[in-house]
Amino acid sequence: MLLAKKSNNEVVITKTNSKIIASKQQVKKETSKTQDSKKIESKQTSNLIKTEPSKIKNMDSISLQVLRKGSEGAQVEQWQLFLVGQGLLKVADGDFGQTTKEATIQFQKLQGLLADGVVGNSCYGKAMTLGFEVVQDNANDKTSAYWPPKPNFEAVYNDEKRFEMFGKFEYTSDEQGNIIVIGNWKEENIITIDVPQLKGIDMYGKPKATGSIYFHKKAAAQMQALWAEWEKAGLLHLVKTWNGTYSPRCIRGSQTKLSNHAFGTAFDINVKWNGLAKRPALVGEEGSVRELVEIANKLGFYWGGHFSRKDGMHFEIAKLL
Ligand SMILES: [Zn+2]
Repeated sequence: MLLAKKSNNEVVITKTNSKIIASKQQVKKETSKTQDSKKIESKQTSNLIKTEPSKIKNMDSISLQVLRKGSEGAQVEQWQLFLVGQGLLKVADGDFGQTTKEATIQFQKLQGLLADGVVGNSCYGKAMTLGFEVVQDNANDKTSAYWPPKPNFEAVYNDEKRFEMFGKFEYTSDEQGNIIVIGNWKEENIITIDVPQLKGIDMYGKPKATGSIYFHKKAAAQMQALWAEWEKAGLLHLVKTWNGTYSPRCIRGSQTKLSNHAFGTAFDINVKWNGLAKRPALVGEEGSVRELVEIANKLGFYWGGHFSRKDGMHFEIAKLL
Protein backbone atom coordinates (compact mmCIF):
# COMPACT_ATOMS: atom_id res chain seq x y z
CA MET A 1 0.00 0.00 0.00
CA LEU A 2 2.81 2.35 0.75
CA LEU A 3 4.37 1.81 -2.62
CA ALA A 4 1.08 2.49 -4.32
CA LYS A 5 0.61 5.62 -2.26
CA LYS A 6 3.84 7.08 -3.50
CA SER A 7 3.03 6.51 -7.10
CA ASN A 8 -0.66 7.29 -7.17
CA ASN A 9 -2.67 10.08 -5.63
CA GLU A 10 -6.04 8.99 -6.88
CA VAL A 11 -8.62 8.32 -4.24
CA VAL A 12 -10.74 5.39 -5.25
CA ILE A 13 -12.91 2.79 -3.66
CA THR A 14 -12.95 -0.94 -3.64
CA LYS A 15 -15.23 -3.45 -2.01
CA THR A 16 -14.23 -5.58 0.93
CA ASN A 17 -16.79 -8.03 2.34
CA SER A 18 -19.91 -6.02 3.04
CA LYS A 19 -18.17 -2.73 3.59
CA ILE A 20 -16.92 -0.30 1.09
CA ILE A 21 -13.47 0.88 1.87
CA ALA A 22 -12.30 4.17 0.47
CA SER A 23 -8.61 4.15 0.06
CA LYS A 24 -6.06 6.37 -1.56
CA GLN A 25 -4.11 3.32 -2.44
CA GLN A 26 -6.52 1.71 -4.84
CA VAL A 27 -6.25 2.03 -8.54
CA LYS A 28 -8.87 4.13 -10.28
CA LYS A 29 -9.89 1.67 -12.93
CA GLU A 30 -11.02 -0.80 -10.33
CA THR A 31 -14.07 1.29 -9.59
CA SER A 32 -15.69 0.68 -12.89
CA LYS A 33 -15.64 -3.04 -12.23
CA THR A 34 -17.18 -2.88 -8.82
CA GLN A 35 -20.88 -2.60 -8.26
CA ASP A 36 -23.17 -1.10 -5.71
CA SER A 37 -23.67 -3.33 -2.78
CA LYS A 38 -27.27 -3.32 -1.74
CA LYS A 39 -26.45 -5.51 1.23
CA ILE A 40 -24.82 -2.79 3.18
CA GLU A 41 -26.81 -1.80 6.19
CA SER A 42 -26.22 1.58 7.63
CA LYS A 43 -25.96 -0.03 11.06
CA GLN A 44 -22.83 -1.83 10.07
CA THR A 45 -21.00 1.35 9.30
CA SER A 46 -22.64 3.82 11.61
CA ASN A 47 -19.87 3.73 14.17
CA LEU A 48 -17.28 4.41 11.58
CA ILE A 49 -19.05 7.20 9.80
CA LYS A 50 -19.61 9.08 13.01
CA THR A 51 -15.87 9.47 13.31
CA GLU A 52 -14.77 12.87 12.10
CA PRO A 53 -12.15 12.34 9.41
CA SER A 54 -9.99 15.05 10.94
CA LYS A 55 -9.78 13.12 14.19
CA ILE A 56 -8.49 9.99 12.54
CA LYS A 57 -4.81 9.57 13.10
CA ASN A 58 -2.59 7.28 11.11
CA MET A 59 -5.47 5.75 9.24
CA ASP A 60 -5.52 5.44 5.52
CA SER A 61 -9.05 4.27 5.04
CA ILE A 62 -12.58 4.82 6.25
CA SER A 63 -15.79 2.95 5.57
CA LEU A 64 -18.29 4.61 3.28
CA GLN A 65 -21.98 4.06 3.53
CA VAL A 66 -24.15 3.53 0.47
CA LEU A 67 -26.44 6.54 0.41
CA ARG A 68 -30.00 6.48 -0.83
CA LYS A 69 -33.30 8.20 -0.18
CA GLY A 70 -33.90 8.11 3.55
CA SER A 71 -30.21 8.15 4.50
CA GLU A 72 -29.11 10.93 6.81
CA GLY A 73 -26.11 12.20 8.68
CA ALA A 74 -22.68 13.62 8.14
CA GLN A 75 -21.90 11.51 5.12
CA VAL A 76 -25.11 12.60 3.41
CA GLU A 77 -24.18 16.19 4.09
CA GLN A 78 -20.74 15.62 2.62
CA TRP A 79 -22.31 14.11 -0.49
CA GLN A 80 -24.77 17.02 -0.71
CA LEU A 81 -21.96 19.55 -0.42
CA PHE A 82 -20.33 17.83 -3.35
CA LEU A 83 -23.59 18.11 -5.35
CA VAL A 84 -23.84 21.77 -4.38
CA GLY A 85 -20.32 22.24 -5.69
CA GLN A 86 -21.38 20.58 -8.92
CA GLY A 87 -24.25 23.05 -9.23
CA LEU A 88 -26.84 20.29 -8.95
CA LEU A 89 -28.20 21.02 -5.50
CA LYS A 90 -28.82 24.15 -3.45
CA VAL A 91 -28.86 23.03 0.18
CA ALA A 92 -26.84 20.51 2.18
CA ASP A 93 -28.92 19.56 5.20
CA GLY A 94 -27.77 16.01 5.92
CA ASP A 95 -31.11 14.59 4.86
CA PHE A 96 -31.21 12.47 1.67
CA GLY A 97 -34.67 13.37 0.37
CA GLN A 98 -36.28 13.50 -3.06
CA THR A 99 -34.32 16.59 -4.11
CA THR A 100 -31.01 14.97 -3.25
CA LYS A 101 -32.08 11.82 -5.08
CA GLU A 102 -32.91 13.82 -8.19
CA ALA A 103 -29.63 15.72 -8.00
CA THR A 104 -27.79 12.41 -7.64
CA ILE A 105 -29.60 11.02 -10.68
CA GLN A 106 -28.64 14.12 -12.62
CA PHE A 107 -25.00 13.69 -11.59
CA GLN A 108 -25.07 10.03 -12.63
CA LYS A 109 -26.59 10.88 -16.01
CA LEU A 110 -24.00 13.58 -16.63
CA GLN A 111 -21.22 11.15 -15.80
CA GLY A 112 -22.61 8.26 -17.81
CA LEU A 113 -23.32 6.16 -14.72
CA LEU A 114 -26.33 4.01 -13.92
CA ALA A 115 -28.87 6.68 -12.94
CA ASP A 116 -30.55 5.08 -9.93
CA GLY A 117 -30.12 7.89 -7.41
CA VAL A 118 -28.15 5.60 -5.12
CA VAL A 119 -24.64 6.64 -4.14
CA GLY A 120 -22.54 3.52 -4.33
CA ASN A 121 -19.14 2.47 -5.61
CA SER A 122 -19.23 3.81 -9.14
CA CYS A 123 -20.84 7.05 -8.06
CA TYR A 124 -18.32 7.64 -5.26
CA GLY A 125 -15.48 6.67 -7.55
CA LYS A 126 -16.45 9.20 -10.21
CA ALA A 127 -17.09 11.87 -7.62
CA MET A 128 -13.67 11.39 -6.09
CA THR A 129 -11.99 12.12 -9.37
CA LEU A 130 -13.94 15.40 -9.31
CA GLY A 131 -12.86 16.42 -5.85
CA PHE A 132 -15.27 14.62 -3.52
CA GLU A 133 -13.40 14.15 -0.28
CA VAL A 134 -13.64 10.94 1.63
CA VAL A 135 -10.62 10.81 3.81
CA GLN A 136 -8.53 13.49 5.35
CA ASP A 137 -5.18 12.44 4.08
CA ASN A 138 -2.06 13.17 6.01
CA ALA A 139 -1.89 16.90 5.41
CA ASN A 140 1.82 16.85 6.11
CA ASP A 141 2.38 15.03 2.85
CA LYS A 142 3.07 17.89 0.50
CA THR A 143 1.98 15.96 -2.57
CA SER A 144 -1.47 15.16 -1.21
CA ALA A 145 -4.74 16.82 -2.18
CA TYR A 146 -5.17 17.76 1.50
CA TRP A 147 -2.01 19.79 1.75
CA PRO A 148 -1.61 22.36 3.10
CA PRO A 149 -3.65 21.90 6.28
CA LYS A 150 -6.34 24.43 7.10
CA PRO A 151 -5.30 27.44 9.18
CA ASN A 152 -6.43 27.91 12.77
CA PHE A 153 -8.98 30.52 11.78
CA GLU A 154 -12.23 30.37 9.84
CA ALA A 155 -13.22 32.00 6.59
CA VAL A 156 -15.74 34.84 6.84
CA TYR A 157 -18.91 33.13 5.72
CA ASN A 158 -21.75 35.52 6.39
CA ASP A 159 -22.58 39.00 5.22
CA GLU A 160 -23.25 40.27 8.71
CA LYS A 161 -19.66 39.59 9.72
CA ARG A 162 -18.36 41.07 6.47
CA PHE A 163 -20.39 44.23 6.92
CA GLU A 164 -19.01 44.48 10.43
CA MET A 165 -15.42 44.10 9.22
CA PHE A 166 -15.54 46.06 6.00
CA GLY A 167 -18.47 48.45 6.27
CA LYS A 168 -22.14 48.00 5.43
CA PHE A 169 -23.72 48.74 2.07
CA GLU A 170 -27.08 48.28 0.42
CA TYR A 171 -27.27 46.81 -3.05
CA THR A 172 -29.47 45.47 -5.79
CA SER A 173 -28.59 42.35 -7.79
CA ASP A 174 -29.42 41.05 -11.24
CA GLU A 175 -30.05 37.50 -12.44
CA GLN A 176 -26.38 36.89 -13.11
CA GLY A 177 -25.54 37.76 -9.51
CA ASN A 178 -23.92 41.08 -10.39
CA ILE A 179 -24.73 43.75 -7.87
CA ILE A 180 -25.07 47.50 -7.88
CA VAL A 181 -23.87 49.05 -4.67
CA ILE A 182 -26.09 51.89 -3.51
CA GLY A 183 -24.47 54.96 -2.02
CA ASN A 184 -20.84 55.88 -1.42
CA TRP A 185 -19.48 52.66 0.03
CA LYS A 186 -17.14 52.06 -2.89
CA GLU A 187 -15.73 55.58 -2.90
CA GLU A 188 -15.22 55.43 0.84
CA ASN A 189 -13.67 51.97 1.08
CA ILE A 190 -12.09 50.83 -2.17
CA ILE A 191 -8.73 52.36 -2.96
CA THR A 192 -6.15 51.89 -5.70
CA ILE A 193 -2.91 50.38 -4.48
CA ASP A 194 0.36 49.36 -6.06
CA VAL A 195 1.49 45.78 -5.86
CA PRO A 196 4.75 45.92 -7.81
CA GLN A 197 5.16 42.12 -7.79
CA LEU A 198 2.05 41.86 -9.95
CA LYS A 199 3.40 43.94 -12.77
CA GLY A 200 3.75 41.97 -15.98
CA ILE A 201 1.81 38.91 -14.85
CA ASP A 202 -0.39 37.41 -17.53
CA MET A 203 -4.05 38.33 -17.32
CA TYR A 204 -5.43 35.46 -19.30
CA GLY A 205 -5.43 36.93 -22.76
CA LYS A 206 -5.85 40.53 -21.68
CA PRO A 207 -2.96 43.00 -21.47
CA LYS A 208 -0.48 42.18 -18.71
CA ALA A 209 -1.16 43.30 -15.14
CA THR A 210 0.05 46.80 -14.33
CA GLY A 211 0.45 46.19 -10.62
CA SER A 212 -2.17 48.83 -9.84
CA ILE A 213 -5.25 47.23 -8.29
CA TYR A 214 -8.43 47.98 -6.35
CA PHE A 215 -8.52 46.75 -2.77
CA HIS A 216 -10.33 47.51 0.46
CA LYS A 217 -8.48 50.22 2.37
CA LYS A 218 -8.51 48.26 5.63
CA ALA A 219 -6.78 45.28 4.02
CA ALA A 220 -4.52 47.10 1.58
CA ALA A 221 -1.39 46.82 3.71
CA GLN A 222 -1.96 43.08 4.18
CA MET A 223 -2.33 42.63 0.42
CA GLN A 224 0.91 44.44 -0.26
CA ALA A 225 2.70 42.55 2.52
CA LEU A 226 1.47 39.25 1.12
CA TRP A 227 3.01 39.83 -2.30
CA ALA A 228 6.23 41.17 -0.77
CA GLU A 229 6.47 38.03 1.39
CA TRP A 230 5.80 35.74 -1.55
CA GLU A 231 8.59 37.49 -3.42
CA LYS A 232 10.96 37.22 -0.46
CA ALA A 233 10.26 33.49 -0.21
CA GLY A 234 11.04 33.04 -3.90
CA LEU A 235 7.50 31.92 -4.71
CA LEU A 236 6.38 34.49 -7.29
CA HIS A 237 7.09 32.10 -10.16
CA LEU A 238 4.10 30.09 -8.96
CA VAL A 239 1.75 32.93 -9.93
CA LYS A 240 0.92 32.29 -13.58
CA THR A 241 -2.10 34.51 -14.13
CA TRP A 242 -3.71 37.42 -12.34
CA ASN A 243 -7.50 37.33 -12.36
CA GLY A 244 -8.58 40.34 -10.36
CA THR A 245 -9.79 41.62 -7.01
CA TYR A 246 -12.73 43.98 -6.61
CA SER A 247 -15.84 42.82 -8.41
CA PRO A 248 -19.32 43.79 -7.22
CA ARG A 249 -21.06 40.44 -7.38
CA CYS A 250 -22.49 37.51 -5.48
CA ILE A 251 -20.73 34.17 -5.15
CA ARG A 252 -21.05 32.20 -8.35
CA GLY A 253 -24.44 30.59 -8.66
CA SER A 254 -26.13 32.93 -6.19
CA GLN A 255 -28.11 36.16 -6.32
CA THR A 256 -28.13 36.73 -2.59
CA LYS A 257 -24.83 35.62 -1.10
CA LEU A 258 -22.21 38.32 -1.51
CA SER A 259 -18.75 37.35 -2.69
CA ASN A 260 -15.76 38.70 -0.82
CA HIS A 261 -14.81 40.16 -4.20
CA ALA A 262 -17.68 42.61 -3.64
CA PHE A 263 -15.80 43.92 -0.61
CA GLY A 264 -12.47 44.27 -2.41
CA THR A 265 -10.90 41.83 0.01
CA ALA A 266 -10.38 38.83 -2.26
CA PHE A 267 -8.36 38.03 -5.35
CA ASP A 268 -8.00 35.20 -7.85
CA ILE A 269 -4.90 33.76 -9.47
CA ASN A 270 -4.14 30.76 -11.70
CA VAL A 271 -7.80 30.22 -12.61
CA LYS A 272 -7.07 27.75 -15.39
CA TRP A 273 -5.62 25.11 -13.06
CA ASN A 274 -7.83 25.74 -10.04
CA GLY A 275 -11.43 25.79 -11.26
CA LEU A 276 -14.44 26.18 -9.02
CA ALA A 277 -15.54 22.91 -7.39
CA LYS A 278 -12.52 21.10 -8.80
CA ARG A 279 -9.49 19.70 -7.06
CA PRO A 280 -6.92 22.50 -7.04
CA ALA A 281 -3.67 21.62 -8.82
CA LEU A 282 -1.32 19.59 -6.60
CA VAL A 283 2.15 20.72 -5.62
CA GLY A 284 4.39 20.13 -8.61
CA GLU A 285 1.54 20.37 -11.13
CA GLU A 286 1.37 23.42 -13.36
CA GLY A 287 -0.56 26.30 -11.83
CA SER A 288 -0.52 24.96 -8.27
CA VAL A 289 -0.96 27.66 -5.64
CA ARG A 290 -0.67 25.38 -2.62
CA GLU A 291 2.82 26.49 -1.67
CA LEU A 292 1.56 30.06 -1.49
CA VAL A 293 -1.06 29.28 1.13
CA GLU A 294 1.05 29.19 4.30
CA ILE A 295 2.27 32.76 3.94
CA ALA A 296 -1.21 33.87 2.90
CA ASN A 297 -2.62 32.37 6.09
CA LYS A 298 -0.02 34.18 8.18
CA LEU A 299 -1.19 37.42 6.65
CA GLY A 300 -4.84 36.76 7.41
CA PHE A 301 -5.89 35.40 4.00
CA TYR A 302 -8.05 32.28 3.74
CA TRP A 303 -7.52 30.03 0.72
CA GLY A 304 -10.56 28.99 -1.34
CA GLY A 305 -9.06 25.50 -1.66
CA HIS A 306 -10.08 25.05 1.97
CA PHE A 307 -13.76 25.82 1.29
CA SER A 308 -16.18 22.90 1.15
CA ARG A 309 -16.84 23.98 -2.44
CA LYS A 310 -13.25 24.17 -3.63
CA ASP A 311 -12.17 27.45 -5.14
CA GLY A 312 -8.44 26.98 -5.49
CA MET A 313 -7.87 30.21 -7.45
CA HIS A 314 -9.26 32.30 -4.60
CA PHE A 315 -7.69 34.04 -1.59
CA GLU A 316 -9.64 36.31 0.72
CA ILE A 317 -9.10 38.33 3.86
CA ALA A 318 -10.55 36.50 6.86
CA LYS A 319 -8.61 38.32 9.56
CA LEU A 320 -7.69 41.97 9.66
CA LEU A 321 -4.24 42.29 11.20
ZN1 LIG B 1 -12.36 34.55 -6.09
